[in-house]
Amino acid sequence: MARLFDTHAHYTDARLRDTELLSQALAGDIAGLVTVASDLADSEACIALAAAHESVWASAGIHPHECGKAGALDDAMERLRMLLKKNKAVAIGEIGLDYHYDFSDRETQMRFFRSQMDVAAETGFPVIIHDREAHGDVFDVVRAYRGRVRGILHSCSVSAELVREYVKMGWYISFSGTITFKNAAGILDAVRAVPQDRILVETDCPYLAPVPMRGKLNHSGYLHYTAEKAAELLQMEYEAFCLTEVENAKKIFGLIS
Ligand SMILES: [Zn+2]
Repeated sequence: MARLFDTHAHYTDARLRDTELLSQALAGDIAGLVTVASDLADSEACIALAAAHESVWASAGIHPHECGKAGALDDAMERLRMLLKKNKAVAIGEIGLDYHYDFSDRETQMRFFRSQMDVAAETGFPVIIHDREAHGDVFDVVRAYRGRVRGILHSCSVSAELVREYVKMGWYISFSGTITFKNAAGILDAVRAVPQDRILVETDCPYLAPVPMRGKLNHSGYLHYTAEKAAELLQMEYEAFCLTEVENAKKIFGLIS
């Protein structure tokens, strides 16, 4: 059975926590996954969950939605540095900008984004970027840290042109179930623009279930639908795609050198 790495999942979410879905995925075609945090309390929960499962790793960080509730910036960054010292913390995320919902005001989002990029530059951890309708501003920040911070553009929704710019800076590009959606035309060119050694896939579960499961509760057991689509777009055999994708994930998360 060809196995995949789910680079972005939220198993601390109430809809997935205390279910058998994580264990089932790990017993199935999921070789490993990163459970991604939305705020500092969730980061602790993610790290605890990772400690309980051999093939689960965790991120720590503050999502743009949560910045407005994260308290004083300096205190939050100090706590983030402490969390990153824990076993199985492998990335800072998810961080970035969300101009679709604007749950935190844009200035606050930007301050937390830049500060977490500073922590990444200082510690060497890769970052997991959330970019919703903020492509220009996210790219400007990433470019300002060129050569100092690398990471993953998560649930990629940028153009093929912008994908190439990220790739040039050493970044990895992760696609979610959105590439299986009927209205996905624009994003398909973005998938084709990613070199084989930078491609990743993710569920972003419990969100974004791929077709034919669209609308259902998503989990890592559905990742293969997204991977099959990505493999087809890159004109790769499915097994070869899986081997490459797991290796790419392990590289960016520092699990292999
Ligand atoms: Zn997410």
